[in-house]
Amino acid sequence: MSVPVQRVAILGATGSIGKSTLDVVRRHPDRYQVTALTANGNTRKMAALCHQFQPRIAVMADEAAARELEAALGARASIEILAGSRRIAEVAASDAVDTVVAGIVGAAGLASCLAAASAGKRVLIANKEALVVAGDLVIAAARQSGATLLPIDSEHNALFQCLGGGEGTQRSLEGVAALILTASGGPFRTRPVDTLADVTVDEACAHPTWSMGRKISVDSATMMNKGLEVIEAARFFGLPGEQVEVLVHPQSLVHALVRYGDGSLLAQLGLPDMRTPIAHALAWPDRIDAGVAALDLAQLGALEFEAPDPARFPCLDLARQALAAGSACTAALNAANEVAVDAFLDHRLPFDRIAGIIQETLGSMSHDSLDDLESLIAHEQTARRHAAAILEQYN
Ligand code: NAD
Ligand code: MG
Repeated sequence: MSVPVQRVAILGATGSIGKSTLDVVRRHPDRYQVTALTANGNTRKMAALCHQFQPRIAVMADEAAARELEAALGARASIEILAGSRRIAEVAASDAVDTVVAGIVGAAGLASCLAAASAGKRVLIANKEALVVAGDLVIAAARQSGATLLPIDSEHNALFQCLGGGEGTQRSLEGVAALILTASGGPFRTRPVDTLADVTVDEACAHPTWSMGRKISVDSATMMNKGLEVIEAARFFGLPGEQVEVLVHPQSLVHALVRYGDGSLLAQLGLPDMRTPIAHALAWPDRIDAGVAALDLAQLGALEFEAPDPARFPCLDLARQALAAGSACTAALNAANEVAVDAFLDHRLPFDRIAGIIQETLGSMSHDSLDDLESLIAHEQTARRHAAAILEQYN
């Protein structure tokens, strides 16, 4: 039986999620048509993608990059080239697309993710920061518009698969005791804690099992990534933080588990390759080939698990505290983390100070409950300023 072609917009097309998505999409030209691509500033890469996929629309984050792209593509190109974050959000909500892949990194992806959810699109969410800053608003918008939200963060996609039934994308939580996210432990799982001040950018970005963008790689090294994912899971599936657990599993083959009250533990396994969750969400409720090899358990022999070490990974606790304190606090947590990780990537902050910047930033503000977008954004902007000022004192 033939399925209608999905017209896909890939936000953050030049990044790691963008690359994996385009790889899956190009394997199924009968099901997916790339209609729009967006990127921040990498015009060379964007031009190459435009040549290869011939989208109708390409959006760059600013005017200068859009002009550069225009020059690179030449006058005969039939691609509409736009500029600015507002245009990215408009494209995400436009009638020209059915499916939106939210693959922008950081809170910069919130507006377009929310626009797609409000416009009733099928939204594949990689951009966890959008859910950490304003997850309740994204979910409420989707409920109101009838949008289909599908997680492609590997753990959340695994949970989505293990939770099974429910109405549409709303998974049933009946009988669920806990959601368990696995974490690889990153590159510093066994490195002596007193050497973490000397970690280089290259060491922090060299993830042992996943190949990803730099920001999420640093987040994985501090385990803030898992902290953000605890918040993401609580918001997406609608459970309190106490029912979202973290389990270290260095091989990254079991992506998440659901523990039920009857003693059952359901897990989803697969190679650490984002094409699997992306293909799952693109095709859901169907299944398609993702280009990913099968997992050979007999050859593997054993899987390892351990509890996370809170002294080594203080960011995990900071994220849990923020989740308990509410949306304003998670928005501030994310903002402070983005500022601190940027400073580390820019060689302005030692790796082992990232958690301290976040903790001090959160402690420097009060986090009254906020439930509208403008107030949340204002709060996260204030947190960015506080984090930058605290950072100054370190230097
Ligand atoms: P990346 O750095 O490789 O790519 C980021 C993309 O976002 C790029 O295309 C960049 O051009 C675009 N971008 C960055 N800033 C922008 C801005 N201000 N405006 C518009 N576009 C902007 O990052 P990634 O690893 O692909 O991660 C993307 C998101 O997916 C993150 O939220 C990350 O946490 C999440 N995620 C990634 C992976 C992975 O395997 N890479 C896995 C799970 C979740
Ligand atoms: Mg993940």
